[in-house]
Amino acid sequence: MPLTDHFGRSIHDLRISITDRCNYRCVYCRTGTNGAAYAELPFDDYLRMARILVGLGISKIRLTGGDPLLRKGIVEFVRDLARLRTLDGEKPEIALTTNGHLLAEIARPLKEAGLDRVTISMDAVDPERFARITRVPNGYESVLAGVRASREAGLDPVKINCVLLRGFNEDQVIPFGMFAREERVVVRFIEFMPLEEDRVWTPEIVVTLDEIVRRMSEYLPLEEIGRGRSETARRYRFSDGVGEIGIIAPVSQPFCGHCSRIRITSDGKLRTCLFSVWDHDLHELMRRGASDEKLTEFIVKVVEKKEERHHIGEPGFVPASRTMVHIGG
Ligand code: SAM
Repeated sequence: MPLTDHFGRSIHDLRISITDRCNYRCVYCRTGTNGAAYAELPFDDYLRMARILVGLGISKIRLTGGDPLLRKGIVEFVRDLARLRTLDGEKPEIALTTNGHLLAEIARPLKEAGLDRVTISMDAVDPERFARITRVPNGYESVLAGVRASREAGLDPVKINCVLLRGFNEDQVIPFGMFAREERVVVRFIEFMPLEEDRVWTPEIVVTLDEIVRRMSEYLPLEEIGRGRSETARRYRFSDGVGEIGIIAPVSQPFCGHCSRIRITSDGKLRTCLFSVWDHDLHELMRRGASDEKLTEFIVKVVEKKEERHHIGEPGFVPASRTMVHIGG
């Protein structure tokens, strides 16, 4: 029986964080001082969870973190995931979200192991600004090499995630439009959400979908194109047909009504929403020797109670029990 919550949403996307360590300290995400805060599990434990979840209707698995490329053995893990079969008898779609710093060398082995797609995070397209945001010197060149290596390896289309903060990098909208066209990647702007370690979020810092469309249209007109029901990004192409951008607008245009996701944290907790105020200890059950049937029963019950929606910007908003880097974005 495929996983469904009590609002009738079918759950088929799984995100697994395989570490909450990160080699970048992006100013809007981390304090800049904290190291790892939660445990990492052996890959076999994530694999068992994934196998059970794929048996329950999950058809897409995204590996994330922290930065997932910091985990040795990720290529073998992708190969093992690629051997799973969905309820339709297909290989699950396997994707990766990374800052791209270590990607150039490993893009091809990952593709050969069964990775389908990669999303690389970049919040500026000039090296100096990039270093100020990530708080790591000389990262830009490595990430650009990772972008190009991914494309050459056939991880197509390469998507770039960019979070804009007012007063910090909102002037990067048009440069990213040019970058999308020149590098033949899909750039997706994500509205900044209150999930950072430093609690700096205010509604005023968020650069919204409307503003991004307005700014980009000063460069070239955009035409909106269709998207799948559970796709989070609104998609646009430039009017001359060259290049695509997307905008993920959880703050100004929430899409919780067709959310199809659940997450597993690096320490094996099941989360049903980025903004959950609690999580569910799947790994503890495993550790105590639960059978696959017991784990299935647990997962089905937890997913049934998935939150209806987030409450960003509303009075009485309760912050999530973990910040983005410790959940897995
Ligand atoms: N280290 C990997 C990376 O850089 O893509 C994976 C983890 S990172 C937390 C995943 C994505 O979440 C990145 O694109 C990052 O920009 C985004 N992100 C982090 N904090 C965010 C926030 N408060 N609001 C929106 N997106 C955020």
